Amino acid sequence: EGIVVSDLAQKMAVKVREVIKSLMKMGEMVREGDIIDQTTAALVIEEFGHNFIAVSDTQLEDDLQEAATEKQGNVQTRPPVVTIMGHVDHGKTSLLDKIRETKVASGEAGGITQHIGAYHVGTDRGVITFLDTPGHAAFTAMRSRGAQATDIVVIVVAADDGVMPQTEEAIDHARAAGTPIIIAMNKMDKDTTDPERVLNELSVKEIITDAWGGDTSLVKVSAKTGMGIDELLETISIQAEIMELTAPVDGAAQGVVIESRLDKGRGAVASLLVKKGTLKQGDLVLAGEFYGKVRAMTDENGERIKSAGPSIPVEILGLPDAPMAGSEFLVVSDEKKAREVADFRIARERERLLERQNKMRLENMFANMGSEAKTLNLILKTDVRGSLEALLSALDELSTDEVKVRVISSGVGAITESDVILAESSEAVLLGFNVRADNAGKRKADEAGLDIRYYSVIYGLIDDVKAAMSGMLAPEH
Ligand code: GDP
Repeated sequence: EGIVVSDLAQKMAVKVREVIKSLMKMGEMVREGDIIDQTTAALVIEEFGHNFIAVSDTQLEDDLQEAATEKQGNVQTRPPVVTIMGHVDHGKTSLLDKIRETKVASGEAGGITQHIGAYHVGTDRGVITFLDTPGHAAFTAMRSRGAQATDIVVIVVAADDGVMPQTEEAIDHARAAGTPIIIAMNKMDKDTTDPERVLNELSVKEIITDAWGGDTSLVKVSAKTGMGIDELLETISIQAEIMELTAPVDGAAQGVVIESRLDKGRGAVASLLVKKGTLKQGDLVLAGEFYGKVRAMTDENGERIKSAGPSIPVEILGLPDAPMAGSEFLVVSDEKKAREVADFRIARERERLLERQNKMRLENMFANMGSEAKTLNLILKTDVRGSLEALLSALDELSTDEVKVRVISSGVGAITESDVILAESSEAVLLGFNVRADNAGKRKADEAGLDIRYYSVIYGLIDDVKAAMSGMLAPEH
């Protein structure tokens, strides 16, 4: 555990310049954003006439976690949490709307549909929760923050359009997360459908559906007419049963922030998905770097509720600010500890960003990996299919017993925001061959501190990957 130089200065209430000067005297050349280790920090602290006390904040965090887990008690089956992904215009939103409409309208709830980032429906085989921010950006952003909120991914493929770039991306993202996939072949009401072609295209991505004797379930649906919706829900429930999803029901709640925003009138509004325990009104919640008492809690129908158990989404009021989507939340009993952990998290978040900026450079990839079997994850985008295929087969031959080269996602076109998010969450290196990053991709890469490598000669790319494999790549300037 280290500390950022400027944070250290702030904690001691001295100028950053003074701290840097003192470090220079010890022979450490640092800048204010650098992290110094604990031993060095201790020396500086003493130099400034303070006492150094090592407090392990992670320990504090673990204690909170443990205290929360202790009281959770018996474990029960919990509903699956599903994310719908797929190519634009293939019907993700329509499908989410149709499911909600057919399953909730028939119930007793008389409330008004609210968008809180997720909703749950009752079926004959049990409850299913859908995250209703479709698309893989949200899915992967959550995963990159360590929050695995999704149990099952439904990939929508329009039967009249087939597998498209974002369908392929969705498959890659779900695979990278190790999440089971169900294919919903949508728009079956149209007379221009070509199901065989879709099956064929899916098989190219190594998705062999049950229709072809494979193990990926495929359900034909129409988000327009409602055809196949019940079968889709049943297929999801069967998949969930196979997964034997369980969670403790009693005790302090833990879970993940699925959305949050600042509302002019109501303050911070956060949507939470409970993963364990039961969340109650009045609970003290620590969510990411913020904590506060749950003042009010509503469900996705805008109804006030008093408690929510595992896999149930709720919207809460009472946090002082909007935590990032994908942050974990935890109900705590000790306000003082909540504050300390919140402070610690703010500092840690900064450290993590800095660390990652260093680590994620291709030339550093291996230095950080230790001695276990090494895998170099790559994301490759090219200008045309031909060069993509040539590069993939060349990369395929590079793997050795010590180092595996794994292309976790590849495709034709610019490097997009979604590619960068996947790279971030999978610790992969981004390679562009005769393509650049688009604006959103570039912005995201800067933000995440990721380095994108561009090539126009096949051998140049292969040589760099080889050099990275042997830990000898020179940094790019
Ligand atoms: P998304 O971009 O994946 O969220 O796709 P949308 O749900 O916005 O759907 C794109 C378009 O396809 C809209 O015009 C929908 O009305 C239409 N659409 C979606 N599902 C179906 C379907 O099952 N049948 C037909 N005929 N049209 C559909």
